[in-house]
Formats: sequence, C-alpha cells, structure tokens
Amino acid sequence: MKVNKTRVVVIGSGPAGLTAALYTSRAQLDTVVIVGPQLGGQIATTHEVENYPGFPEGTTGPELVEAMRAQAEKFGTTYVYDVVTAVDFENGSPFRVETGGGEVYLADAVIVTIGANPRKLNIPGESEFVGHGVSYCATCDGFFFRGKDIVVVGGGDSAIQEALFLTKFGKTVDVIHRRDELRASVALQSRAFAHEKISFTWDTVVEEVKGNEKGSVTGIVTRNLKTGEVAERSVDGVFIFIGYDPNSDVFNGQLATDEAGYVMIDQLYRTNVEGVFAAGEIHDQVFRQAITAAGDGCAAALTAIAWLEDHEDELQTLDVEPEPVAEAGD
Ligand code: NAP
Repeated sequence: MKVNKTRVVVIGSGPAGLTAALYTSRAQLDTVVIVGPQLGGQIATTHEVENYPGFPEGTTGPELVEAMRAQAEKFGTTYVYDVVTAVDFENGSPFRVETGGGEVYLADAVIVTIGANPRKLNIPGESEFVGHGVSYCATCDGFFFRGKDIVVVGGGDSAIQEALFLTKFGKTVDVIHRRDELRASVALQSRAFAHEKISFTWDTVVEEVKGNEKGSVTGIVTRNLKTGEVAERSVDGVFIFIGYDPNSDVFNGQLATDEAGYVMIDQLYRTNVEGVFAAGEIHDQVFRQAITAAGDGCAAALTAIAWLEDHEDELQTLDVEPEPVAEAGD
C-alpha cells in the first residue's frame, strides 16, 4: 500500500466537495479529493441545470461539474479517481483514509462530502432513461415537463411535496403508491387531495419504464398489488421519491449519525471528531440542491481552514514518517 500525506482530504466530488476543495487549495493547503464512483455526484447525471446562479442560459450537470473540477484544480487540488473503503478517525489527526485501489492518505483535516443517493426502484428501463424522462429531482427537471403527463412514485413527504411542485408544470400529475394510504403529513395530504391536477393510483407498483428509439420515456407498466392486474399506460415523466440513503456506511462507528445514517454536524459544519467536517447531502435532508451543497462546502472549508490555522503547531502530518504497511500476503 502506498502512503500519501496531505493537509486536507475531501471525500466526495459533488458540488460540496469541489467547492470545499476550491477553498482549501486556494488557502494554500495541499488538497486531495477522493472522487468516488462518479465525478460530480448526483448533479453529473442531471441533463439540464437552470437553477444554478450565474448561468442565465442554463448549463448541464456535466458542464457544471467540469467547471468546478477545473477551478479547484487551478489552485492545486489533486484528484484521486477511486472510492474510500475505510477510514480511521479514532486517534485524531493525522486522519487515515484508505481507497479501494490500495492507497492510504494521511491528512491533517478531512471534509466529508460523500452525499446521499435517491433510492431506486431497480426496475427495467429506470436507469436507462435517467435524465430523459426518469428523474429523482422535481426542482431540477420539472420545468422540462410543461404540459406533459407526469407520474410520481412514492407516498411520503418527498413524493407529495414534489407532486405539488410538479403541478406548476405538468398537465396531469398522478401519484402511484404501493399502499392505499399515504405516509406524508396530513397537511401535505390535504393539499394534494384538494389539487385539481393531482390524482392517485393506489396499491400499485411500477414494474417497467418504457421508451422510444430517441431515448425518451413513453410509458410505464404497473401492477396492482391487490388485484394482480398488470396495465400499461402512456406517460412523459416518471419522478421517483421513495426515500434517500446517505452514503455513510464507511464511517460507521467513527462519525456520529442520526438514525437514518445522516452525519451530524454543528452550525460550523464540525462533526463529532475534531478536525473532521461534513457538508452537502451527507447531512442535509431538506434542501438537496447543487447550490446549497456548494454553499455548505464553502462553509465547511472555511471552518476547516480556521481550525488548521488554530492548530498549526500541533499538526504534524506532513512531517510524520508513515508506519510501514503490510503488503497483502505478507
Ligand atoms: P419516506 O418518508 O421514507 O417515504 C418513502 C415513500 O416511498 C413511502 O411512502 C414508501 O412507501 C415508498 N416506498 C419506499 N420504497 C418503495 C418501493 N421500493 N416501491 C414503491 N414505494 C416505495 O421518504 P421521504 O418522503 O423522502 O422522506 C424522508 C424524510 O424527509 C422523512 O422524515 C420526511 O418527513 C422528511 N421530509 C420532510 C418534508 C417536509 O417536511 N416538507 C419534505 C420531504 C421530506 P410506504 O409508505 O408503503 O412505506
């Protein structure tokens, strides 16, 4: 295993991670971003982005990610295209971060921006049509379904809140829920039941998303769980809101999380481990926007920079001789 030393490791490369890296590298701190499975995270798979300030003509997720990546790189950020498989935060700084490719990073400070992922239905056609009719973000994609027929899958607060939002755009919004009552709050339910554009299909699951040769969604196949009836219908957009899972497994036992696995931070983006900070959807269950994640990344980085300055005399990572690490098979 190769051991590398740096001042800051940023885990994750969505808007939170890339913004954090921009700030720490611009503050003259050696910064390594461990990119994760997808450079840019969730926004990288969003086709058009119209709500990120500074782009009056809109931009695309990949373009936004590339601009952020290049901007941080300009100030010295190094990217490691690998995933984090283990961390050791227990003994304080230097923190130890291991990657799947067998590298070890020792860092004075760590900024965790590893995000959360919308839960998938895992049905045929779902991943194929992401960004072309299948979406997990109404704020991002609702605008593209003006005058179209939309279905929303799920029955919780997210599904109903987003269904209400989608009525601004869609001709129809049908909520497909696997039971015959909603999990969402009574207040949201009342608004949805009263809305003329919203209808409900109960006791039903979506089993397949269908599309045309141009790559756009054209319909869905559903199954009624009570009657077993299988039906096919035409739709333009399938918005899936069946919950989110924070990517915090790798921090189990090291960082404090809430019951759902979201990393807990204080107002200054500090985790329970001094020198480890967190930003973006790994802690945020409410806003989930690229711009809020970027703002979070900035704030976490500013706290990290201040913490590193305050502890300059004690932090020795760059001087520490790493202990020899046994090679596999030794
Ligand atoms: P959630 O409360 O876990 O609801 C997920 C919904 O998806 C449930 O209705 C569930 O059905 C359904 N579901 C789960 N897996 C499914 C599957 N494989 N196939 C079909 N349906 C499936 O998730 P959420 O709505 O994202 O909310 C997460 C948290 O954020 C909650 O605490 C919520 O209160 C909060 N939140 C609050 C607000 C707000 O206050 N305005 C807005 C958004 C979210 P069942 O009901 O049958 O389990």
